Formats: sequence, C-alpha cells, structure tokens
Amino acid sequence: MIKPIIMGNWKLNGSKKFIRNILLPLNQFLIKYYNICTVIIAPPILYSNFITQTLKNIQNNFFLGAQNVDIHFSGPFTGEISPIMLKDIGISYVIVGHSERRLYHQETNEIIAKKFKILKEENLVPILCIGETKEEKIFNKTKEICKKQIDVIFNLCGESAFNNTIIAYEPIWAIGSHNSGSPKEVQSICHFIRNYIKSKSNQILKNFFIQYGGSVTKNNAKTLIYQKDIDGFLIGGASLQVEEFMKIIEISN
Ligand code: 13P
Repeated sequence: MIKPIIMGNWKLNGSKKFIRNILLPLNQFLIKYYNICTVIIAPPILYSNFITQTLKNIQNNFFLGAQNVDIHFSGPFTGEISPIMLKDIGISYVIVGHSERRLYHQETNEIIAKKFKILKEENLVPILCIGETKEEKIFNKTKEICKKQIDVIFNLCGESAFNNTIIAYEPIWAIGSHNSGSPKEVQSICHFIRNYIKSKSNQILKNFFIQYGGSVTKNNAKTLIYQKDIDGFLIGGASLQVEEFMKIIEISN
C-alpha cells in the first residue's frame, strides 16, 4: 500500500484569517495520519512564511507547495519566483502545467517542460498537470493529448525524468464542474499514463505517483481512491473548506 498524497491547490484564494481558520485545525488533525498520508497545501506563495510562523509545530506529514515557478534562477524577470527561492523558504512540491496557467498565461508544453527540468535540477518535486479539454474528450483524443504533454518532458529531461515526480491527471472539463467523470474512466486514463511512462523510462521508476484532480469531494473520494492507479488527489474547491478537506483525507486512508 502506498501512502496517499493529498494536495490542496488554493489558487488565488486565502488571507491570514482564512489560514488561521483552516490550517490550525488541519495541522492538528494530521497527527492522526502520521506516517500514513502525505498532505500538501499550495497557498498563494506570499503566505508561506506566515503559515510556518502560525503553525509552529508543523506535522511531518504536512508540506507546503507552490503553484508556479519561473524558468530562470535569478535576474531581470519582474514578478517571478525562482526554484532556488522556493527551496530557500522550505517548499518541496511545485505544480507545473496547470490548465489555468496554460490557458491564462499562455504556457506551452515547451515552457512547462523547462519548468519541470529546472525543478528537478533543484531537487524539488514537480507535480505535472496534464489532461484534455471537453472537446478533445468528445473526439476521443485524451490519450493522444496526455502522451504529447508527457513526451515533451521526456524529450527535454531524458529517460529518468519521472523519478521522484507526481503527475496530476486533471481533465479540464472536470475542474470546478461538479463532474469528476466516472472512477472507472479516470482509472483507465491513469493506468494508461502509468504504463506509458513506464514504457518510456527504460528503468524501474522510483517514487512516481499519479494524482487525480477535478471536482474531488468527500462524496466521490472513496471510489476514486480505490482505483489502482490513483495514488492521491489534487484538490481545488474542496481544499478551501476545512471539514470537507479533512473528510477527504480520512476517506483516502
Ligand atoms: P477543483 O477541485 O475545484 O475541481 O479544482 C481542481 C484543480 O484545478 C486542482 O488543481
């Protein structure tokens, strides 16, 4: 049995008050799950310091993540955050390729691959989001799209690219839609992703995990986590509600 990895992506949400209300109880709650579950929260990055100060005794199965990173280490890149800076403030997991960044910030597969590479060079764990649009799903292109999004990473980072990484299969049509798709359907794509990565890795994959993301709630978490190729979740909306998020953690274990 692998330990489920449950991640909350707060996107553009949060405040000091919100952090106190949600993370203090969550940190306490996680004592029960010591050693059986990994929980990561990716808040807006400027709150990281406030969070570590507020929580003081942060549980050792509780990590902070980032929602984005730049492809440069330093220099004249106004508004950006480098992987070295993330590491410096104690971040270990970084989301790359989220569909909202692909859509609103014109991030291409090539840019995302560069971000992935720079994170690996700094020994940070990339969480690579991949997945198809509704239209692509209707035209039966899901596997093709996932392959393409994975191939650019292999092309830039080589055969060992996916050691110590997480892929979040997040079909775009499922995000914020109250429709996660059927567990069987999600499982079959996650299975495909795992096999595809295995087949291209040419070595035994180490520490590679697949999360599912897209309208995960306490109502669908159980059947989803039972699926063989789903190792955890990447959660948006439900991670902003402490009771709901804790319930999902409970259900996943
Ligand atoms: P929802 O859980 O709100 O559908 O968002 C998923 C997501 O985008 C996580 O990165």
